[in-house]
Amino acid sequence: MWTEQLLDQLLPRHCVLCGLFSGVENLCPPCAAELPYNRSACALCGLSLPAQPNRVCGACLKKPPPWDAVVAGLQYQFPVDQLVCRFKYQRNLACGQALGSALLKAIQQRNGPLPQAIVPVPLHRSRLFGRTFNQAQMLAQQLSRRLKIPLEYSLLRRIRRTRAQSGLDSSQRRKNVRGAFDCRQHGLKHVAIVDDVLTTGRTLEECTHSLKRAGARSVTAWVAARAAHH
Ligand SMILES: [Zn+2]
Ligand SMILES: [Zn+2]
Repeated sequence: MWTEQLLDQLLPRHCVLCGLFSGVENLCPPCAAELPYNRSACALCGLSLPAQPNRVCGACLKKPPPWDAVVAGLQYQFPVDQLVCRFKYQRNLACGQALGSALLKAIQQRNGPLPQAIVPVPLHRSRLFGRTFNQAQMLAQQLSRRLKIPLEYSLLRRIRRTRAQSGLDSSQRRKNVRGAFDCRQHGLKHVAIVDDVLTTGRTLEECTHSLKRAGARSVTAWVAARAAHH
């Protein structure tokens, strides 16, 4: 594992978007500069809120999500959708690292209180073996290493199989993931839950409820990209 990381740092890289030489980074400076960063967004749902950076939008004032804060690094639009797709389905780790770096930058810029542990949204065992790749866990690992915060990948478990959320509407998604997660009791007050994309938030809602039932007082959602859904 460490040799892999060492080689990773020694080998010159090529930008995952344009293919040009990119030094030790996964994106060249111009491509990195042009990403749709989610700089001005609602502090609770992560949707773009240009007039009031880091404030709460009207929808969240009326009906706040169960988590206490969200950090979304990017907006889920071109070319972020391509990075996510290549990371998730083609297991392109360089794309995953580029997404993780954008999220890390957003977390550091937010400068809020850091959690005691980082928890990835779990895949069900059967899916984990089928795909052998949990993109949320890869992102969580990267953040854990860079922020020096422990990764708790077995705290939260998916206890039943669920259909993929894509293609389902909001209420179908809620039904699909209801009761899907189980969390063991823990003494952690503040936990960050990590996923690649936040769309309707149904999965993160279920995870947050499980973490809070098991003792967390505060849950922060960290997502690489925020998709606007209507
Ligand atoms: Zn580039
Ligand atoms: Zn909001």
